[in-house]
Amino acid sequence: MFGAHEAPSIVARQKIPAADIQAQTARLEAAIVQSRKQLTKLKARLGNLPEDSQAEIAPLLDAYLQMVGPSRLVRGARRRIAEMLVTAETAVMDETDAIAQAIMALPADDDPAGRKRRAEEVREIGRRLVRNLTQTPFRSFSGLPPGSVLVCESLRPADAALLDPSRLAGVATDEGGSDGHTAIMLRALGVPAVLGVAGLSQAARPGETVVIDGVAGSVVVNPSAETLAAARRSVTAFAREQQKLAKLRRLASVTTDNEAVELQANLEIPAELPLIAQAGAAGIGLLRSEFLFMNRETLPNEDEQTETYRSVIEAMGGDPVTIRVLDWGGEKDIEALQSEGVVPEVTDENPALGLRGIRLLLRETELFETQLAAILRASTSGPTRVLLPMVTNVGEVRTAREIYERVARRLRRRGERIPEALPPLGVMIETPGAALSADALALEADFFSIGTNDLTMYTLAVDRGETDVAGLYDPLHPAVLRLVQFATEAALRMRMPVSVCGEMAANPRLTKLLLGLGIRSFSMNAAAVPRVKQAIRAANIDDCARFARRVMEQSDPARIQELVLGTAPPT
Ligand code: PEP
Ligand code: MG
Repeated sequence: MFGAHEAPSIVARQKIPAADIQAQTARLEAAIVQSRKQLTKLKARLGNLPEDSQAEIAPLLDAYLQMVGPSRLVRGARRRIAEMLVTAETAVMDETDAIAQAIMALPADDDPAGRKRRAEEVREIGRRLVRNLTQTPFRSFSGLPPGSVLVCESLRPADAALLDPSRLAGVATDEGGSDGHTAIMLRALGVPAVLGVAGLSQAARPGETVVIDGVAGSVVVNPSAETLAAARRSVTAFAREQQKLAKLRRLASVTTDNEAVELQANLEIPAELPLIAQAGAAGIGLLRSEFLFMNRETLPNEDEQTETYRSVIEAMGGDPVTIRVLDWGGEKDIEALQSEGVVPEVTDENPALGLRGIRLLLRETELFETQLAAILRASTSGPTRVLLPMVTNVGEVRTAREIYERVARRLRRRGERIPEALPPLGVMIETPGAALSADALALEADFFSIGTNDLTMYTLAVDRGETDVAGLYDPLHPAVLRLVQFATEAALRMRMPVSVCGEMAANPRLTKLLLGLGIRSFSMNAAAVPRVKQAIRAANIDDCARFARRVMEQSDPARIQELVLGTAPPT
């Protein structure tokens, strides 16, 4: 376990020609405005902290705000650009160094710790300005010693995306759930994690040893020598099993009776691309495009998005890529949308039921059109599909398609190269509204992707990231299974592609049931692909269908769990 420190920014000293003074000064001014905005936002969020933390942090933020106002630091940095002909970054770092040294050189009074603290505050604000000048995201955990375990109250998906998996041995939090977006992000990074251990952050202290078993969902603080030895053995056994599973990579994904099943990967961040290749997934069934918008203050423009999508599509070398348009809302809070005023600072009281997914995109059409244009331009590089999140009615799909076609016409007029036939436009079935209108949606959509995470949450009225109700979150609840079945059958009747991309798809113990319900396409975190392939290669479709019928006759969730998870008494 560790305490987090930020590594100092390293800036190469750089000279500029006199003609660049104005441009460098403008960069400095923009970074000052951005820093002021960030600090004001942090101040507004202080109310969420306990009172003693507020009392400690508020004066610090005020001091920072003063330093990005009409301060000696700002005046000095401007002067350095103009007189010493250096870049804005160099000017800021040199000026903060000079001020910090001047503070430290003050006559030794009775408060040497205070001087040190004030000097560090100046350096900290300098680092913030440089981060904003270089557009470098804040990596609060970049200085972790290798093998660290992060224990904290809660972790946002955007913060999880900044963790360095090569240094982190595990993550455990008080709040959260195994199918929430933070858990999904950590799984994508390959970091063992257990979320939702009430009181853990109080029980564990920095420097203590912690064993985290992401498979069993257990956390042991200060383990005994035997527990530690057993954990080490499990790590070795896990690595050995991974090696064995890797051998499945080249084997076909077919059942014993030769039915082909498509196995694709979900992608949260581009860093997963090598894992997807290693896992032998046949393309990307769900690219969650939120990563493009996370941990930044500005929205990515059309060119930037095009480049990112294109690089993913090219990396898949001809295998299809399904790009889901931005699913903002719920627990996925994204700074860039707030900084640019796309969504208000304080959103709905109940964000999961608010302006999420397609609802936001249909209101902020410029945001939607920019993303669609980028996907269309990138789609000349390989087979691509477009997926709409959080749909609840056919009107949303119709309007989305109109916008999609309008964007395509505009690109053609602009002379951009896009495919003759537009990439298929599909719908996430992740709300009961969508599942129960699946027959109507099947007339509007080109494919379905069943998002069992949100479908479970919305059907059972259980927040997927909420520890207190985690025990009620049950994708095997008959209500959820009936919706999956109804949506699948609606798609199959129309001979329309349908896949499952929620966490259910990644659980090999559920493979037989999903095959029996008619699913022939799965998308999951890359690491899960080999185990699910193993389950598919052991399955027989007639058996699966019989098994699914037996499960669907049950109305008691406990009985279904017994049947599906293999703990059923012999019948
Ligand atoms: C789902 O809801 O099942 C899904 C795949 O989407 P996300 O997890 O990104 O909400
Ligand atoms: Mg979802």
